[in-house]
Amino acid sequence: MQIRSDFDSGNIEVINAGDPGQVRLAIRKDFASDHFQWFHFLAEGLSVGQRHGFSLTNAAQSSYKSAWSGYQAVASYDGEDWFRVPTTFDADGLHFELLAEHSSARFAYFEPYSRARHARLLVKALALPNVELLACGSSLQGRELPLLHVRGTASAPRKIWLIAQQHPGEHMAEWYMEGLIERLYQDDEELQQLLSKADLYLVPHMNPDGAFLGNLRTNAAGKDLNRAWQAPSASESPEVLFVQQQMAAQGVDCFLDIHGDEEIPYVFTAGCEGNPGFTPRLDALEQEFRRRLMAVGEFQVEHGYPRDEPGQANLALACNWVGQTYDCLAYTVEMPFKDHNLSPDPRTGWNGARSKRLARDVLSVLAAMVDKLR
Ligand code: ZN
Repeated sequence: MQIRSDFDSGNIEVINAGDPGQVRLAIRKDFASDHFQWFHFLAEGLSVGQRHGFSLTNAAQSSYKSAWSGYQAVASYDGEDWFRVPTTFDADGLHFELLAEHSSARFAYFEPYSRARHARLLVKALALPNVELLACGSSLQGRELPLLHVRGTASAPRKIWLIAQQHPGEHMAEWYMEGLIERLYQDDEELQQLLSKADLYLVPHMNPDGAFLGNLRTNAAGKDLNRAWQAPSASESPEVLFVQQQMAAQGVDCFLDIHGDEEIPYVFTAGCEGNPGFTPRLDALEQEFRRRLMAVGEFQVEHGYPRDEPGQANLALACNWVGQTYDCLAYTVEMPFKDHNLSPDPRTGWNGARSKRLARDVLSVLAAMVDKLR
């Protein structure tokens, strides 16, 4: 059997592939950082009809080791249809298996969103008459960081920003952006309502280096971009610096930062309640956003991160920094690596298609709230 990971978002080290029934592997650390959890590899030379087992032998030492319990790895024969495979976790690692139906299969932590698909998504977005490439930043390794501007029809529009995949292993975040951009094509009544009052500013992928390198958490300098918003630098976090400069030029009336969470098997949001500038107005906006999203989409408010105490927010996080700087509704949106346990799908778990649906539902919520953002 051949194990390969020499491609976009590939990450695996082969320890021993001599026994095709029990291949021993390890997850590689992030480039320039000790984080690791994301994996993605191709296994070739599978015996059709045979059971093949794979063990990630260092999983118990990974960044979020407690996240492995209740987790099922994903596999795909064609790179399009991804399904969960039987998975167990113990001190010796994460173990999953596949009864092979084809001679090769991919395995990953989550359905990957590829650079090729990212390129097609940009072409698709820019084919819309009301979408322009407003600016293009550059990652540390020189990959493009496009900022899309969706022009509405208002003369003084509200400015709604969405950014995705600051954490490069959180591939659900760009699936979300694909769902958002596809809804622009529907041009339905709710969308018209939204765009009659607001413009959208979209960064579909904040960390292209990290994702390409197969990182979980950091960019090519080993920096966690979602801890860099208080003091971004050209040498270590140019991705954040670029977006902050563009925000200063355009203004911000609402901000959503799209993420995935390793541990919690639910969709949830984290808000700005710990910001020094948090006000009853922002509290009411947060509550209305949650209430409306619960009514239309796969979302809940019972499970999530502990709320920050007043004044105790970490302003190095994008959501808190933007909410504080622009006195606006700002949320981190978290989707699960596992499943949304209120509506579980054992075959796929949470996946790209469900991430896309969530984005469409959030646009409905924003359409209903756009008048109140200021
Ligand atoms: Zn994240």
